[in-house]
Amino acid sequence: MAHQTHIAPLDLTPTGHIPAAVALAPALERTDQLAELLAAKPGAACPVYQDCTETGPHDHHCNHSLRVRSDDGEMLLDVGMCAEKPADGRPVVYIRGEDFRDAASVHAATAKLRALLDQVDAMADRVFADYQRARA
Ligand SMILES: [Zn+2]
Repeated sequence: MAHQTHIAPLDLTPTGHIPAAVALAPALERTDQLAELLAAKPGAACPVYQDCTETGPHDHHCNHSLRVRSDDGEMLLDVGMCAEKPADGRPVVYIRGEDFRDAASVHAATAKLRALLDQVDAMADRVFADYQRARA
């Protein structure tokens, strides 16, 4: 025996009834933390800091993945960021052991590092050229 399914057309006439979930919504405060919880799913990227490498719901944001190592594995330079809850934790970008609390301070430090690295290249060229000349 064949079954026929009949679904009545939706009645879109307003009833005046407000679903409970909608009625409760104004009572909820839309804090940063709530938005974070709503957006965070297990395995999902961080909803607060695009450089944060944590996944899923978390209060401690961080990225410790920017590292330069020598061919022997020695750490030459490590850079990263950390922040606690977005509402009360000011983020920090660090270079080695030094913490910076604003982008301008980071830019000032990286400008010094760029200048230093150029000086290191120039020094290396001189030192090894001098060594070759002394051996000749
Ligand atoms: Zn995060």
